[in-house]
Amino acid sequence: MKIICIGRNYAEHAKEMKAELPGEPVFFMKPDTAILKEGQDFYYPEFTKDLHYECELVYRIEKTGKHIAEKFAAKYYSQLSLGIDFTARDLQQKCKEKGLPWEIAKSFEHSAPISSKWITVSEFEGKPLEFRLMKNGQTVQHGKTSDMIFSIDQIISYISRFMTLKTGDLIYTGTPSGVGPVAIGDKLEGYIGDQKMFEFQVK
Ligand code: MG
Repeated sequence: MKIICIGRNYAEHAKEMKAELPGEPVFFMKPDTAILKEGQDFYYPEFTKDLHYECELVYRIEKTGKHIAEKFAAKYYSQLSLGIDFTARDLQQKCKEKGLPWEIAKSFEHSAPISSKWITVSEFEGKPLEFRLMKNGQTVQHGKTSDMIFSIDQIISYISRFMTLKTGDLIYTGTPSGVGPVAIGDKLEGYIGDQKMFEFQVK
C-alpha cells in the first residue's frame, strides 16, 4: 500500500506558503509506516522544532489501474475520509532551499494520521463537501472540495500516468490555508460537515 499526497492544491494555501500555483498536480509519497490510526497518540518527533498540521481529505483506491482517463477515474474510488499530513516545516524549508526531496520532512513515522471512519462519496454528489480542523477547540482550517485546484478525478488520472494505483492506496488531496504549528499537549479534531472524523492527542 502506498500513500500519495498532493501539494499546493488550494490557492489560498499556496499563497500562504509563498508558492506558485501549479499547472499540474504536485505529488509526493509517504510509506505505509506513516499511518497513525485513530485512537493512537502522536508523539512529537525529536528532529523538528516546527511541526505543522495539514488537514486533508483522503480517498482510498478500490481497483487497480494505470493510465486512467479522467472520465473513468470515479470508478476507482467510492469513499473518502479525513487525515493529517504532518510536516516538519523547518526541515522542509531546508530541503526546499537546497532543492532536495522532502521525505525527511513529510514521510516520517506516524506523519499520516487518518480517521477510521469512511464516508460514501455519492452522499455528497453535486454538493461541495466541507471539512475543518480544530486545535484545542478552535477552528484553524476550513476547506471545501470546490476550492481544490485539481479534482480527485484529475489527480487520479495524473498520478496513474506515472505509476499503477492499487487497491488500498490512499490519496491525501492537499490542505486548505490555515496551516500552523502543533505543540505537545495539543488536541486535534477533524470534521467532515458535522460529522466528527478523528481526534488525536499530541504527546
Ligand atoms: Mg499536505
